[in-house]
Amino acid sequence: MDLYEYQGKELFKRVGIPVSEGRLATTPGEARQAAEVLGGPVVVKAQVLTGGRGKAGGIKLAANAHEAEERAKEILGLDIRGHVVRKLWIERASDIAKEYYLSLTFDRGAKQALYMFTTQGGVDIEQVAEESPDALVQLRVDPLEGFHPWQARRLVYGAGVADRSEQNQIAAIVGKLHDAFVRFDAMLCEINPLIVTPEGEVKALDSKFTVDDNALFRHPEVAEMRDLDAADPLEAYAREKHVTYVKLDGDVGVLGNGAGLTMSTVDVVTFAGGRPANFCDLGGGGDAQGVVDALSVITRDPQVKAIFFNIFGGITRCDEVARGILQALGEMSLDLPIVARLDGTNAEEGRTILAEAAPANLRVAPTMLEAAKLAVELAAAA
Ligand code: GDP
Ligand code: MN
Repeated sequence: MDLYEYQGKELFKRVGIPVSEGRLATTPGEARQAAEVLGGPVVVKAQVLTGGRGKAGGIKLAANAHEAEERAKEILGLDIRGHVVRKLWIERASDIAKEYYLSLTFDRGAKQALYMFTTQGGVDIEQVAEESPDALVQLRVDPLEGFHPWQARRLVYGAGVADRSEQNQIAAIVGKLHDAFVRFDAMLCEINPLIVTPEGEVKALDSKFTVDDNALFRHPEVAEMRDLDAADPLEAYAREKHVTYVKLDGDVGVLGNGAGLTMSTVDVVTFAGGRPANFCDLGGGGDAQGVVDALSVITRDPQVKAIFFNIFGGITRCDEVARGILQALGEMSLDLPIVARLDGTNAEEGRTILAEAAPANLRVAPTMLEAAKLAVELAAAA
């Protein structure tokens, strides 16, 4: 789950990472009031779950409360990469002397947490990694050993921070970022920019915070932060139905059982020259009702032109899945072409069930590749 900047900063604050004081606003009037309360110049910041807000015109300075109201009028309703701005974070403006970058995420290959730090912050970190890789200091933390203060010093010295007070402040923030990462089961904690003010004060000017969905049960106060209005309605519906669903941008609906097989199915569709419309995982069970639920999710996406049903029966029984497909076809008016590939436990029974019922829009293919090719063809023809 991705958090908004203001929510991430709230968690930063709880572990002691310095942030600027701010207020949330949803109307220009509220933005003016927030600026009045904060006093002095403020920055009006679009709260959307995407980066690059500054470049898109979603971050603006305002010298006073009146200007804050004007800037809020400009930013509210703005579409930033498909995200409409409905909330603003009004923050006391900071003077910036330097912009650094600090993040903590996972290096899945190394099975360790990975720090990245550079004094070339503010811009795209991908650009720094590409153009001046030496400026980007990387350091991994062994989860069994945990974080050691010397690691913070290595990051700070490695990036060439010379000022003693800055070194100390950043080293403290590095440690606190690890606290936040562990305490809230984060997948990513990123501060870009981590600024140094002209007075030499270091603080987090931005926050990107992603919490592991599978750990949300341990953090009800974080789970509550979820913004139901901003969520994709289809993803919300899928969650309600306990279907793992990720929207993609193609036209072949993909339904598999198990994340590994479903990912491979996405690959095979791409290999066959098509573009998956989604990633939909039935999970290990795959009973008839699960199939009905998953199909009801996929068919709500108007971009889907054909469905590729890829089942490898282990615990899941192909005959049960076949019944689920027929039940779903009986319950909903579904005229999209469906290609099914069933293999594994009770595959023969499953195929026989489908062959006997022989719904007009259902085709059975013997292999994954053949099924993918057929699904891609049918989607293209639709
Ligand atoms: P992003 O574009 O979505 O990453 O949003 P940020 O919160 O990182 O803001 C983008 C840029 O706006 C920053 O890199 C700063 O240069 C600028 N900015 C943000 N807040 C302030 C502020 O309080 N004072 C000043 N002077 N600039 C700011
Ligand atoms: Mn930023």
